[in-house]
Amino acid sequence: MATSCKKMEKIQGHPCFGGNHHKNGRMHLAVAPKCNIKCGYCTRKHDCANESRPGVTSRLLTPAEAMVKVREVMASPITGPMIKVVGIAGPGDPLFNEETFETFRMVGEEFPHLIKCLSTNGLLLPDRMAQLKEIGLHSLTVTLNALDPKVGAKIYSHVYYEGKRYSGEEAAALLLMNQLEGIAQAAELGLTIKINTVLIPGVNDDQIPLISQKVKELGAFVMNIMPLIPNADFAHVVPPSPEQIDVLRKANEKVIGQFAHCKQCRSDAIGLIGENLQLENPKL
Ligand code: SF4
Ligand code: SF4
Ligand code: SF4
Repeated sequence: MATSCKKMEKIQGHPCFGGNHHKNGRMHLAVAPKCNIKCGYCTRKHDCANESRPGVTSRLLTPAEAMVKVREVMASPITGPMIKVVGIAGPGDPLFNEETFETFRMVGEEFPHLIKCLSTNGLLLPDRMAQLKEIGLHSLTVTLNALDPKVGAKIYSHVYYEGKRYSGEEAAALLLMNQLEGIAQAAELGLTIKINTVLIPGVNDDQIPLISQKVKELGAFVMNIMPLIPNADFAHVVPPSPEQIDVLRKANEKVIGQFAHCKQCRSDAIGLIGENLQLENPKL
């Protein structure tokens, strides 16, 4: 299906989807504290490793506090003109927190021109798709690290779904099933989809080409291969070098476009990619 003009216009405004990342910025709202899975690289002492780097934990905001922040940022002559995207990426899984939906509803009412973007582990995607449609989500990032449940079981220690806790391959297979179904539904809905894959050397190297092929077939727009930040269960793993990541991106770019500017931002980052104006200017 050809990408519509309206969709293309929005993609061009989105720095994480290949839009002009020197000019267009995004604002992350850290309103989603809880998570429903456990990734081996996550310590929960800092923001979700889906979209973050270790460091100071962002201050959790209520939806009302988040709105105060959005108003301040949009009124500022420094940030107002550059912010094109409001993203919710943590610190837990946005789909597992009602605050995510409440915040997006409020942002949509007051700032309808801002692109709504969300980043998730994908477990609840099929369950939440109708709500995502209702709030008018434009872009979606799903972190998908394995297609083989045996590999997934080495990455995810447990998954909590519909009141039940799963572990091992059963957990990984359940997560995978919902991720793939969710990506297919999101593509059907016309969302612009980015797939984040954390490369964990010695664990999921062989999964990368399989993932790129599969998500392309399902309708994803771009892939973002991210280096592991060694932590928790994977604290001992030597992270991949920028050169290794580069080689992988090149090998997969014929299958699906590769996003090469990711700076693994925190879930409260504000400004251009790699920038957090909030840290430089606490008033924001
Ligand atoms: Fe941590 Fe994010 Fe994984 Fe949840 S989805 S365990 S918050 S890295
Ligand atoms: Fe959207 Fe993710 Fe980029 Fe945030 S980090 S703006 S949630 S793609
Ligand atoms: Fe964009 Fe930062 Fe998200 Fe990477 S982590 S996709 S650079 S906002």
